[in-house]
Amino acid sequence: MPDGMPRWNAANPVGAMDTRRAAELLAARLPDRMRVFAELAYDLACFWRPEGGRLFAEIDALTWEHCEQNPVRMLSAVPAAELTRAAQDRDLVGRAEALQRALCEERARPFAEHGGLSAEHPVAFVCAEFGVSPALPIYSGGLGVLAGDLLKEASDQGVPMVGLGLYYHDGYFHQQLDLSGWQHEYWIETPPHRCPLALVTDAWGIPVRVRVQIRGEDVFLRIWRAELGRTSLYLLDANLPENSLIARWLTARLYDAEREVRLAQYALLGIGGVRAARALGIAPAVIHLNEGHAAFAAFELAREGVAEGLDFESAFEAAREQLVFTTHTPVAAGNETYSSEEIWRVLDGLPQALGVDPEQLLGPGRFAPHDRGEPLGLTVLALRASRSANGVSRVHGGVARGMWHALWPGRAVEEVPIGHVTNGVHVPTWMAPPMRELLDRHLGAGWLARAADPQTWEGVAEIPDAELWGARNAMRSEALRFVRERGVVDALRRSEALSQVETVGGGYLSPDVLTLGFARRLASYKRLDLLSREAGRFIALGHPVQLVVAGKAHPRDDEAKRLLVDAGRRSGATGARIEEVMRHLAFVEDYDMAVARQLVAGCDVWLNMPRPPLEASGTSGMKAMLNGGLNLSVLDGWWAEAFDGANGWAITADPAENEEARDGRDARLYFDLLEGEVLPLFYERDAEGIPRGWIRRIKASLMTNGPRYCATRMLDDYVRSVYGKRW
Ligand SMILES: *Cc1c(COP(=O)(O)O)cnc(C)c1O
Repeated sequence: MPDGMPRWNAANPVGAMDTRRAAELLAARLPDRMRVFAELAYDLACFWRPEGGRLFAEIDALTWEHCEQNPVRMLSAVPAAELTRAAQDRDLVGRAEALQRALCEERARPFAEHGGLSAEHPVAFVCAEFGVSPALPIYSGGLGVLAGDLLKEASDQGVPMVGLGLYYHDGYFHQQLDLSGWQHEYWIETPPHRCPLALVTDAWGIPVRVRVQIRGEDVFLRIWRAELGRTSLYLLDANLPENSLIARWLTARLYDAEREVRLAQYALLGIGGVRAARALGIAPAVIHLNEGHAAFAAFELAREGVAEGLDFESAFEAAREQLVFTTHTPVAAGNETYSSEEIWRVLDGLPQALGVDPEQLLGPGRFAPHDRGEPLGLTVLALRASRSANGVSRVHGGVARGMWHALWPGRAVEEVPIGHVTNGVHVPTWMAPPMRELLDRHLGAGWLARAADPQTWEGVAEIPDAELWGARNAMRSEALRFVRERGVVDALRRSEALSQVETVGGGYLSPDVLTLGFARRLASYKRLDLLSREAGRFIALGHPVQLVVAGKAHPRDDEAKRLLVDAGRRSGATGARIEEVMRHLAFVEDYDMAVARQLVAGCDVWLNMPRPPLEASGTSGMKAMLNGGLNLSVLDGWWAEAFDGANGWAITADPAENEEARDGRDARLYFDLLEGEVLPLFYERDAEGIPRGWIRRIKASLMTNGPRYCATRMLDDYVRSVYGKRW
């Protein structure tokens, strides 16, 4: 441990002082009575309380949205007149102060001790992306959002955990479609000092640095801290003047398109992550590699062992005792491999530091350790280097055992030591205010802390149908308002004809119509095209229906991009029938957490049609479920274990058919279900105008799935079966 750095403790984590100091600097620029907002801005736990975001929006709703809900940027950007007005609003300031007191008390609550975990020995959770808040745009999709949800849940439950990741100053790409529907990508720089982040300094106020050798060059990294209630997220950043321009670029873009840059990023994450933990005085009880990107942490731990006198093999074995691993996808692009030439271009100094022959070092990352031609697989390395491994749903656990069976040649496939912890989502983040208020009224005080207990959700049965229906209507209206407004702005930016723009803004989506949602990364295995295959049927289903779609295609995934073009073409086509279809369809550009929050709250039916078995879990459907949305999904990922016949709808997978036949069949089945079951149930109203059968299904969905697919249950599972003991 470096001089001047006390042993890290979750109750008073390194960097907390820096966070307070950053808040003071911001407060000094605000009117006296508004200083409390600077304090709120630096604890992201503020924003998973229902009143948090609302308080900032009350200062100035427009600036709040323009600043992407980034409270630090917002407080610097809000016009002085609005600040002065807000400062005179005693009620607003009073509520902000009450929230601030609650957050301080929350941060001071003691930590739970589980197994080997304690405030001195937290879980170190290492991940290439974190989706914590729209204000920190350093995530691409489900992996990052899940990581963020787990850190938040750890704060809520007092499980000692720190996040370790990279700060990407250009973040992930933004999406804009042109008139032909083709996706264009652009990046926006987000300087870290304009985010809810504080630069971590040591006892003398000097920024803490770590160093990793990449391509023969020392790359220096500074460390930013985000406060998530009781959890700290530390982010490494190479954007320093003493680094070369190439080195500074390494933490520019999440999943940079250039392979060698990406490999260097993974090295910074794994090796730099462990070094950062040491520099901060953290002595983790366990290091959780969330996806294979972080696998090089194993080499760094082994290097430490070698430095203490162990040989490489014993050091690697000792590293294994400290590591656990979660694999998140069976898709090849998510399980990257690198040739030895690529590895040695980036990490040329590594074999020497570990005192081994280069070939021996690569061995654990190969199926056949001595096969010099075999590239190093990040997932293979992570599996070999970890004492525990899991997939993210029951089905995915089985798929992963099959995929990686060859690593355990002596065993039957069922004996492959990869288990599963099914994903869950953070309820306070993803449940919209109308639903939250409803459940707060009906499930009893403190129900969130008991969210994993099925008994907690029994009260859902007693909610008057009219109240639940009222909440659903309010959420649908709000989401459609959002979709229309975004639609107008998107269309103006594409230079659409103003008559077209007016159609978009003119209320072509109706708040009374059954609304289907499909929003996720547009990887081709997610099969958005199933919907366009039978697009004509949209207007011939017997009842009105509308569809909202959002999602980014990977910049190099031309097949996925063509799906977007198809949607665009249809919008440009002139046939009356196509126009009729298009009146029921909206595409929201630039899918992110803020868009997701609106859509999962407002859509009545959440669609998911992955090509089985490629959906490891899927979490957006869980978010929809928490808001009373019903899932209509292929039986894959989480839905394969969640569907019980009465809590949504399912399409069974038939792996025997060829891909083309299966896609055609699944598309037909989708529309058959919509036509035969979903729409009639939604539109069947009683004298009071309430769809009783629909409400019954929503209640069944909440009661069966609420306790299972919340992050509370997920974290319980990790603590009990992964962090504390072996499989
Ligand atoms: C939840 C979420 C995802 C993951 O959705 P899947 O259903 O797992 O594909 C992706 N992106 C964002 C912004 C999310 O909030």
